[in-house]
Amino acid sequence: MVTQVNTVQGKVKPEDLGRTLIHEHVLVGFPGWFMDARMPAFNRREAVARCVDAFQQLHAYGVRTVIDPCPMDLGRNVEVIAEVSQKSGISLICATGAYVESMGIPYTFNALTVDQIAECFQKEIEDGVDATGIRCGVIKIATGEGLVSDYERKVLTAAAKAAKFTGVPLISHTENCSCGHDQIDIATGQGLPASHMIVGHSDGRDDHDYQKSLADRGAYVGFDRFGLEMMISDEIRIKNLKAMVDCGHKDRVMVSHDTVNCWEGSYNGGDPADLNKTLPNWKMTHLFENIFPELKRMGMSQEDLDHIVIENPRRYFEEAKTY
Ligand SMILES: [Zn+2]
Repeated sequence: MVTQVNTVQGKVKPEDLGRTLIHEHVLVGFPGWFMDARMPAFNRREAVARCVDAFQQLHAYGVRTVIDPCPMDLGRNVEVIAEVSQKSGISLICATGAYVESMGIPYTFNALTVDQIAECFQKEIEDGVDATGIRCGVIKIATGEGLVSDYERKVLTAAAKAAKFTGVPLISHTENCSCGHDQIDIATGQGLPASHMIVGHSDGRDDHDYQKSLADRGAYVGFDRFGLEMMISDEIRIKNLKAMVDCGHKDRVMVSHDTVNCWEGSYNGGDPADLNKTLPNWKMTHLFENIFPELKRMGMSQEDLDHIVIENPRRYFEEAKTY
């Protein structure tokens, strides 16, 4: 059982995490990213420099910890994450776990049993990734839209077992605000309290009832895509976040942007730089520059906002460890 939070630079007490964003990516490469030979070769030095700059800007807003929930099969590189952490002064927490079947690499885990997959996650949490000694501090789980596939159910079951065994919490990917309750059902079915998980991307639809229903079961609800306005506007996210606070769920909301600070290869066949150009607010300081001031105008206090970005992440890790 891990008794403190695993960051890429070592163990930290939950109360020392400070202001925390729960879902931002240093680096993402979709499976087979290297096959798009049209794209420029990945330049690690440039990528690290760009990330360090972005994380230092975030540090200036008082953020001290960021979770990078990149699963094993999405171009994860924990040594790059560790270098960015060391150079930017922000504690980064990396993940073990696997992505949604349609966009991940299901072949290997399809061939393993639930217990064997759980063993893989546990090893990355307790001994570290490969021979790096860098230990994972969260387990990423993911489901596709509308239906949990057999593969996703298997990985999620393994993740819940590993979470229970190690005291490391779960963080999820959902699509179009669906399957959040299935994720909770599978985790709690293994005896894991719902409060040991963040149901991610729950801000992707204008659906307060769905968001509230997840929190009612004790799960953390991820309003984690601020600035990513392709499918839904921040105005709707703000309205729904405020509604969660107003209905008594200030303890259950987590905020972030799901930024990708560096890409390997292309995104959806295009140059990811173009995606960033069309989304000017999709950056890690957006919450502090634009969203929090708006929430304050709507009546929330600095104390409320600190509660969401300091107390909620602290409790999320603390409860998972003291179970
Ligand atoms: Zn993400």
